Parts: sequence; C-alpha cells; structure tokens
Amino acid sequence: MLSNSLIELDRNHLVHPVASYRAHEKLGVRVLSSASGATVTDTTGHQLIDGFAGLWCVNAGYGHDSIIEAAARQMRELPYATAYFGLGSEPAIRLAAELAERSPGDLNHVYFTLGGSDAIDSTVRFIRYYYHAKGAPQKDQFISLEQGYHGSSTVGAGLTALPAFHAGFGIPFEWQHKIPSHYAYRNPVGTDPQAIIAASKQALRRKVEEIGAERVAAFYAEPIQGSGGVLVPPTGWMKAMRELCRELDILFIADEVITGFGRTGPLFACSEDDIVPDFLTVAKGLTSGYVPMGAVFMTEHVYNTIANGAGASLVGHGYTYSAHPVSAAVALEVLRLYEGGLLENGRRAGKRLMEGLQSLADHPLVGDIRGRGMLAAIELVTDKTKKTPLPIAADPSRRIFDRAWDNGLIIRAFGNGVLGYAPPLCCTDGDIDAIVDRTRKSLDQTLEDRDVR
Ligand code: PMP
Repeated sequence: MLSNSLIELDRNHLVHPVASYRAHEKLGVRVLSSASGATVTDTTGHQLIDGFAGLWCVNAGYGHDSIIEAAARQMRELPYATAYFGLGSEPAIRLAAELAERSPGDLNHVYFTLGGSDAIDSTVRFIRYYYHAKGAPQKDQFISLEQGYHGSSTVGAGLTALPAFHAGFGIPFEWQHKIPSHYAYRNPVGTDPQAIIAASKQALRRKVEEIGAERVAAFYAEPIQGSGGVLVPPTGWMKAMRELCRELDILFIADEVITGFGRTGPLFACSEDDIVPDFLTVAKGLTSGYVPMGAVFMTEHVYNTIANGAGASLVGHGYTYSAHPVSAAVALEVLRLYEGGLLENGRRAGKRLMEGLQSLADHPLVGDIRGRGMLAAIELVTDKTKKTPLPIAADPSRRIFDRAWDNGLIIRAFGNGVLGYAPPLCCTDGDIDAIVDRTRKSLDQTLEDRDVR
C-alpha cells in the first residue's frame, strides 16, 4: 500500500536523472528503504546486494555509525559555514590538508565542490583563468576521449562523449573536441597494449595539430573510463598521455570521480599509474555518497599562476556550498575508515571479484571481462568470435538488470550490453561470491530468451 502510493507520487512528481520519462512512468519506481553493509532492502522487503555501490559512490558501504555520528556532531556544532569572505570551518581546512598530504606529487591545493560535474566545470573555469593569467587567453580548446564521461552540467556534458547526453541539448560546444578511446575490446588497432598507446598518442597529436597547438588548453581522461563501459587502458597509457600533454604544452586533467578513494585499490588511481596530473577531480567516494561533495586538486604551479595572475583581484568562482562543513566532517571520517582497513578489504575483495567474473568467461553470452580492483565489467555478445553485440530491440540491458534484481543483485546495465560492477569495498567473500553466482543465474535466464540469441 505504502509502496503503491509512493509509485503514484513518484510517477506524478519526481523527475528522474538520466531516464526515459515515458518508460519510467510505465514501469514505476522501485523504492529502496534501508541498507547495511553491501545489502539494500526495498519497500517490499526484497534484499539485494548492491553490486554498484549506489552510483559507484558508497565505497565504504552502508550503515557506518561513525559516519552518521560525524555528520550529526558537525550539524549540532556548526551545520553551515561559508568559505566566502575569508571564512572557513575546521573540518574543511583539515580535510584539504589531509587530502593534499595523500594526493600524488604536489597537488596541494584543494577546491571543494558539491559533486563531480561542478568539479569538472570548476577545472574548465580555472584552466581558462590560468591561461589568461599566463597571457595566453587564446588557449581555449578542450579535448577529451570518446566513451568518456565528465559530468552532466552543460559544460561537463559537452566533454562527456555519450550520445544521450548531447542529443536534444545542443552540445558539445565547438571548443570541445574528442579523440578515440583506448577501448581494447573493439579497437581498430587490435589488443596489443603498445599499439593502443601509440594510437592514442597519435590521435592526440593529430587533434592538437588540427586545432593548432597554440589554441589547445587541456586534455581530460579518466584513469578507467567508467560510464563508457568500464574501459581499462593498457598499463602505461595514462603516463604516456600525461607526458605527451607536457610535450604539447597542454594541461592534463585526471578525472578520478569514479576511480578515487579505493575503487581501483589505492586512494588515487593516479598513484598506481605513477603520474601527477595538473588537475585531479574527485567526488563520490570522497564522502562515500553519505552527503554530496566533490573536489578539484591543483598543483603548486597551477595554483600560483592563478593566484599571481589575479593579484589583488577576486578569482570569481564559488558556490554557496563550497567546502561545506558537514560534508567535510563526513569525508574526514570516511577517510579514516578507508585507511583503517577498508582499502585493504577492497583490494582483497577486488581480486576475488575479478577471479569470480573470470569464471564466467565460458558463458555463451560473455564476450569480454575487464576491470581493476573493485571496478569491473562484462561485455555481452551473441557471437564471441565476431563480437556481435546483443540485439538492441531485445533491450538486453534492462532485461538483465530486471533478472539480476529478482535474483537479489543490483548491477549497472549499460545500454550497449555491458554490465558494470562497483561493489562497496566492505564486501565479504560471501557478498562477492553471491554477486558472481547471481550474475551467472541472470545470464542463464537471459540465454533462454529466443530474441536475445
Ligand atoms: N566525472 C566522472 C568520471 C564521473 O563518473 C561522474 C559521475 N558518474 C562525474 C564526473 C560527474 O559527477 P556527479 O554525478 O557527481 O556530478
């Protein structure tokens, strides 16, 4: 009864993010009501393992009392403090310092946002400001990767390369350019890592030449492309692209909104890739999704160029909720939990997850299995040799999502027949095994459908 009335209220009033509105009205909402560890429960009492940590963000898992207490304590003491007017709050200052200490290289200056999209927007604003400060305002062209995702704000969605984020919105802007992804499973140069790296380097060089080196501001890349289907570049790819950007005199931005905070193992994937980008963006795992927050890290050089360029003038970029004290208090506690064992557990569980998913390699529908740490994907095909995608008409993603749901598992079903996994780092061996078993069952059930084969 409760559920039915909520479905009706939702249908009539709540506009969902990234949804087919008419399809959603027909299907109705599924209402989640509680969660603990890696398990969520809906209003019908159905329990599911959250194999996607909400939206790849609840890295710590659900129900940590210490996080809840940190938020409550901060709300009681000081629920809000602006960081405008030279003001601040203790948790935000401490968080900036703790993060700077752990970030790669000299990414020592941290600008807090509300999430990932405005972190990306902030980098675009800072980069424009940086080049104005350097006396090169003509450097105003931005490059990102096909299959890349950099948020859903107007500017970020233009850097994003997923068609649904562009169609009907009149973006990307003419100053936003794309080069092909490293996507190993379907790369025209094949699967050889060195050939893929060489192809990406050549593509970036060509694009910069085409635009004119004096006009290119920056290149954006995720250490692992998340929303594009969990596309893992070959080892050395990030380093090669970072070095090429230096050679081409353009800034390199590592978008770690998904990969940050233990998702691939360490706090930052860039540490594993052994690079220091000019900017690094995070969100999601920063607060483990308990409250909203994102951040932009910038190097000493970038920060000082902006600061010197501004002189006594204002750098006019800020939000009401920049450096929010409650979000910062939560992030500090989440960081403590990561370092107190969650990162370690995530690394162990990630290994088990990859091994478990590899055991599905023989399944007739499984074409590719890829991932790093607690971030993984299976790409489904109807013909393994020809790599034939599942027929779109059969809506395989939705079908598999529904099957998995009924089997007690939430996974991400991307539209192109890719299943995404990003479970909380707190997963037990039992959770991981259940994720794999329930996936196998869901795939077997899907295989029985004639229109999918
Ligand atoms: N960058 C990347 C790499 C992301 O994956 C996302 C979100 N999935 C964003 C930016 C945008 O973050 P948000 O949804 O918090 O605005």
